[in-house]
Amino acid sequence: MSKKKDKNKTLETSELVVSGLNTRTRKRVILSFPPSVLQTPITYILAKEYDIASNILRAEIAPEETGKLVIEMDGLPDKLEEAIKRIKEHGIEVTEIARKVIFNMDKCTHCGVCVSVCLAGALKLDEEYHLQFIEPKCTVCEMCVPACPFNVVNIDI
Ligand code: SF4
Ligand code: SF4
Repeated sequence: MSKKKDKNKTLETSELVVSGLNTRTRKRVILSFPPSVLQTPITYILAKEYDIASNILRAEIAPEETGKLVIEMDGLPDKLEEAIKRIKEHGIEVTEIARKVIFNMDKCTHCGVCVSVCLAGALKLDEEYHLQFIEPKCTVCEMCVPACPFNVVNIDI
């Protein structure tokens, strides 16, 4: 297999796969906390009561202000749904991130411009200066879309 095909494979396999109720899957959500529930141990509850592993992708939390967490939850589909319902019962707003970023790698020149605007650390150039997309870190902020001079990046809604 050529080096170019290998790179494309890396991008494809990083996409989320949902294949049935008994398969663990991942869901990315934005949690908006009112100040009164900032201390709620959400990730602990998710792990202990729903067997959900949480990966915090971004956190903006300040005392007396609404906090925001972008997290990726990994668990069984029915447990994910139950957990989201439970989180909402705590007065926390849950916004699911359904969109994802698609790279048309045939057009990519690996110039690295998009890497410099990705605050989430989802883009990097490897040791051979080839673009790598670390999809689990992507918060779909869309900063890389206008940054790319070659229209390589698109948002799949
Ligand atoms: S800015 Fe566009 S062309 Fe440059 S590395 Fe990123 S995706 Fe590729
Ligand atoms: S959408 Fe945002 S987080 Fe995702 S790769 Fe582009 S700049 Fe990074």
